Amino acid sequence: MPDETHLRDSNRIRAWKRTLLAKGADVAVLLQQVLDGKDVDLGAGIPELGASDKELRLRRFLELIDRGIKRAENGRFGRCAVCGDPIPAAVLDEAPWTERCEKHPVG
Ligand SMILES: [Zn+2]
Repeated sequence: MPDETHLRDSNRIRAWKRTLLAKGADVAVLLQQVLDGKDVDLGAGIPELGASDKELRLRRFLELIDRGIKRAENGRFGRCAVCGDPIPAAVLDEAPWTERCEKHPVG
């Protein structure tokens, strides 16, 4: 039985949601810089998401973040989108936008 006590901790869910909101704001700034034609270094904080193009990569990341915020609001946060299993707290601490468990990697 996988541990899901962290998903019943509303303070923790709120903290992950705050991280998502802050990250979304950062990514929106980066996206605007790319759209303005600036040479932006996306670095390691932005997952590649199968996109070699910076604008597409940032847009995909923003969508991922938005879906995470919605899940935090509708009680589905922290569960695999495929099987519903809880995603471990350590993974969510590292990347709260994670939406699949290790058995169901994206792509
Ligand atoms: Zn899964």
